[in-house]
Amino acid sequence: MATHPLQGKVALVTGGSRGIGRAIAERLGRDGATVAVAFARDESAADEVVARIRKDGGRAFALRAELGRHGDAAALWAAFDARATEHTPGAAVDIIVNNAGIARSSDLSNLTEDDFDKVFAVNVRAPFFIVQEGLKRLRDGGRIINISSGAAHLAMPEAIAYGATKSALDNFTLNLAKELGARSITANSVAPGIIDTDVNAGWLRDNAAAQAHAASLAALGRVGQPEDVAGIVAFLASDDARWVTGRVIDATGGSGL
Ligand code: NAP
Repeated sequence: MATHPLQGKVALVTGGSRGIGRAIAERLGRDGATVAVAFARDESAADEVVARIRKDGGRAFALRAELGRHGDAAALWAAFDARATEHTPGAAVDIIVNNAGIARSSDLSNLTEDDFDKVFAVNVRAPFFIVQEGLKRLRDGGRIINISSGAAHLAMPEAIAYGATKSALDNFTLNLAKELGARSITANSVAPGIIDTDVNAGWLRDNAAAQAHAASLAALGRVGQPEDVAGIVAFLASDDARWVTGRVIDATGGSGL
């Protein structure tokens, strides 16, 4: 395998400052891509990711882009254009990873309209318009990778709106694959199970019983790590995955088998 399979490619990773997005950004950087690390609030975390990629010999820059409001995608790409021209002629992009997402833990009876709107705005509306705006920059042969969730195809009534956002994202993936195939652009979803990130820190970290329970859900018998997901994304981003499109790739370590 080539040491730098993504040499010459440019990637955008939303939510690249922490958790799964951080691992994806660092992995794509190690694989040779120039990485735009988009974040919402935690600039120092994004700067750390950029520094890490550069330390490993890669190229990266950070972009502040809070998602979940009207005009967010246009603002993200304006920020990308302003920075990317230093790295890529015409501010072109090859790999778009829609990773930023939020969880809203609420069952149907407690769900508020505001919570519903917010989780759909970040998890669904933002990826739709990031891709819409990004298509004019996305080179033929490009990749769209949407970070979904195992929750998309499970009944989890305690997070009912969250699961619905990820099902919507998977349907978006399907349609993108059909529409963009003629340009050799692939679109796939990656669906993690429980991954050890900040989003789960409150109940999972430093709690041996919770760790053991989470590990027991996966056939592979441990809690998933961000790097487990990043490896799958790196494959989908690579030329070796050029014949895979419109799919949801399971990243749950064999949960629910
Ligand atoms: P995380 O640790 O909470 O990190 C979230 C990342 O998204 C951060 O970089 C954050 O930026 C960014 N972000 C959050 N809200 C944003 C907003 N409104 N606009 C722009 N960026 C925003 O999350 P994670 O666990 O890595 O999850 C990443 C993705 O994987 C999500 O789509 C999630 O649904 C999915 N997923 C996670 C799990 C899991 O168990 N962890 C399981 C299945 C699916 P700041 O640092 O600036 O806040």
